[in-house]
Amino acid sequence: MRQLTIGDVTITSIIERDGPWRRPEEMFPAYNSEVGRRYLAELDPEVFDPASGRMVITYQTYVVRTPKHTILIDTCTGEDKGYPAPMDFPKQPWLDGFAAAGLKFEDIDYVFCTHLHIDHCGWNTVLRNGRWVPTFPKAKYIFHKREYAAWEEATKRGATPPGNVWRFNCEPVVAAGQAQLVDDDFELDDTLWLTPTPGHSPCHCCVNIRSRGQQAVVIGDLMHHALQCREPDWSTIFDWDPAQAAQSRRRFLGEVAGTGKFVLPIHFPHPTTGLVEADGARFRYKFVR
Ligand SMILES: [Zn+2]
Repeated sequence: MRQLTIGDVTITSIIERDGPWRRPEEMFPAYNSEVGRRYLAELDPEVFDPASGRMVITYQTYVVRTPKHTILIDTCTGEDKGYPAPMDFPKQPWLDGFAAAGLKFEDIDYVFCTHLHIDHCGWNTVLRNGRWVPTFPKAKYIFHKREYAAWEEATKRGATPPGNVWRFNCEPVVAAGQAQLVDDDFELDDTLWLTPTPGHSPCHCCVNIRSRGQQAVVIGDLMHHALQCREPDWSTIFDWDPAQAAQSRRRFLGEVAGTGKFVLPIHFPHPTTGLVEADGARFRYKFVR
């Protein structure tokens, strides 16, 4: 995706990391290689690298410009977090992408996180004089209050993961008074609102965007790969509650199929944006080119 325009809203992508990543058999505990091979042969060539046997997985942030606000949705892994390989992505590509989008940190009005995993809230904060501070000085950060509470509790209990994700990326935003802790029914305005899609994380949400009769939806990690349209029950090893994740995915796919609503997953490679079509009890993901 270079840019998607719906009504008066433009959506662009800042890519932090791109390319072949994981094998499907490592990602989906329910993976069946015979079935998977058949699907992969039918899918768009961008989503799988046959040479390495790995799925192509992108890490990106969406910039949403509405007539009123400049908004970021999900903020990749960030810089200086000290994450171990392979999550130690170089920081420059994201910073270059941010600048290429014509943005400065102070331009951002809102930051939404679909959930508070390592690769969705990293640029929330930067290290300044040994302290984590909000990267975007004028932004309000929208966190689901029970998602925030769940990772606070897990962190204080010493559970792994999440390691230091909550301490580095979330707590400092609240401490700075820049967080808005919201519930399932949060609406920023007529243009942007949340819908709950729990399972990948305790209170994972989608971010809906509407303008002049057109709609798009940023789905975070409701899906990691187009294979999950063919097999919605293939939850990933990263899903907090795999059965609930599958239920949320199936419900979403059933609701969005055939509506013309643009779907924006975080981890699908360019051209990223897609439309969902029903195919019996399964679905197809059609890239918008
Ligand atoms: Zn993710």
